[in-house]
Amino acid sequence: MEKRICVVGAGISGLAACKHLLDRGFRPTVFEAADSAGGVWVHTPASTRLQMARWDYQFSDFPWPETVTEVMPDNRQVLDYIQSYARRFDLLRHVRFGEKVAAVELVGVGEEEMETRDLWAGTGDAFGGRGGVWHVTVQHDDGTQKVHVMDFVILCIGRFSGLPNIPTFSLGKGPEVFKGKVIHSMDYSNMGSTAAAELIKGKKVIIIGFLKSALDIAAECANLNGPKNPCTMIVRTKRWNINSLVIWGVPFQYLFFNRFSQLLFHKPGEGLLLSLLSTFLSPLAWIISKFVESYLKRTVPMKKYGMLPEHSFFQAMLSGLLSLLPDNFYGEVEKGSIVLKPSKAFEFCSRGVVVAGETEPVDADLVIFATGFRGDQKLRNMFVSPLLQGMVAGSDETTVPLYRIYVALSRECIHPRIPQMAIIGFSLSVMNMVTSEMSARWLACFLDGGFQLPSVGCMEKNVEEWEKHKKRYSGKAYRRSCINAFYIWYHDLLCRDMGCSPKRKKGFFADLFIPYGPADYAQLELKKK
Ligand SMILES: Cc1cc2nc3c(=O)[nH]c(=O)nc-3n(C[C@H](O)[C@H](O)[C@H](O)COP(=O)(O)OP(=O)(O)OC[C@H]3O[C@@H](n4cnc5c(N)ncnc54)[C@H](O)[C@@H]3O)c2cc1C
Repeated sequence: MEKRICVVGAGISGLAACKHLLDRGFRPTVFEAADSAGGVWVHTPASTRLQMARWDYQFSDFPWPETVTEVMPDNRQVLDYIQSYARRFDLLRHVRFGEKVAAVELVGVGEEEMETRDLWAGTGDAFGGRGGVWHVTVQHDDGTQKVHVMDFVILCIGRFSGLPNIPTFSLGKGPEVFKGKVIHSMDYSNMGSTAAAELIKGKKVIIIGFLKSALDIAAECANLNGPKNPCTMIVRTKRWNINSLVIWGVPFQYLFFNRFSQLLFHKPGEGLLLSLLSTFLSPLAWIISKFVESYLKRTVPMKKYGMLPEHSFFQAMLSGLLSLLPDNFYGEVEKGSIVLKPSKAFEFCSRGVVVAGETEPVDADLVIFATGFRGDQKLRNMFVSPLLQGMVAGSDETTVPLYRIYVALSRECIHPRIPQMAIIGFSLSVMNMVTSEMSARWLACFLDGGFQLPSVGCMEKNVEEWEKHKKRYSGKAYRRSCINAFYIWYHDLLCRDMGCSPKRKKGFFADLFIPYGPADYAQLELKKK
């Protein structure tokens, strides 16, 4: 019988999953809550651009069109590119728009059995052999619901949307006492550029946060309101936000996106030789970090505005906690259109916000929380079973346990104990698009019988090993499951599982020093059944 596979979400991860499943002869159903494909790129602040060079944010087999010449295209161009990919590979006819998956429930496998199995899904195969199926409850735009029975579910629901992260306040100190309006950056993005511009025009705006959305919204406020109505940014953690992809004449890719740069860090499961090499080379990581910091200190007036971070550039890079500054950002600070207020704490009052150590409030009409999303809770909410809710995203002290999707998931996509399910797009990488695509390829190969998973015990050990390394390099931010320190290593493991060579370049030195990007994975010779 044809296997019933569903993909939840039609952002880059869901589209890549759909494409690679089709390549392997499956006919997946993609449920997408929104009315178009593209995920986060459907709704971003009008000024949002790609934060990296376009050739590092592309599907391996679908180069950007020649008409796009900008190194960092804007949000419309990124969305057009993603939607052209969907059209080029005829993916849209598999997507059911306006159908939101409200819940998934595993039927036919006892919870005790799941907790005690030695092999994934009982057999180590993708579909198991014990008759378990997923009941996928889909909610339609008209409010009706339907339950679909699936043999395998792939969650591609994204981490940076849906469920906002809003800080909590003690009673009487939160948004409830403020006379103005309080929204999240997600609401701002969703309202569209015209309505968003009307909302902020002529208003006193406070933005909480200092990463991508916060910076973009602040730039839009500065453009519209100028120094007459300055926008205030309240910054709890100062960030190494960058102003260029070329550092002292060296392209960023040569510092961070090649095999040599990954030798500076220990990798999960590495052998003795690599471990010794990483220990020996690790001082170089410190030197490169200082090299970048010196450039940023010289070219961005962070010191003048009290915005020098307390952590190293490498720490920021390895946890993915940095952004590209909008054009002329500090020019607007200089003009007084943006006021920066570093502060560890603040509370609301009727007029606005009072930051720790000050007595006078910052007056406001509108406060925008650009404080991120609760991706792990969104993942938990998909499950009916409290056991699976607890299992899937781990506890607050662990990362999400995935194998090869081992972002506490084995291979960063498979939870060792949750059968017939994978998650794509949960780990963060410097190359999110190709990492999602490689995970999708790996998964399609696995579903097609290309290889078997190791025992559950072995995958759990692997998850622990990855978690140890994420904690080592991302510090307190390890739950972001960022694999920047070893993303090439991760792609190597996927290649090996799929039976193709991880070395994608010709020649020892090219492989060591030339940056690795999506184009290197365009032609993989994958294992067939
Ligand atoms: C403002 C912004 C800028 C960014 N810029 C960059 C960048 O420059 N470079 C970079 O590498 N990364 C960037 N990112 C990270 C970005 O999230 C990833 O690059 C990538 O787009 C994530 O794709 P995804 O498919 O995994 O998730 P998403 O894009 O979030 O897609 C998830 C999809 O699933 C759907 N969905 C969710 N829940 C359900 C459900 N229950 N039922 C049905 N459908 C559902 C959603 O509607 C959505 O379409 C940015 C993120 C944001 C928010």
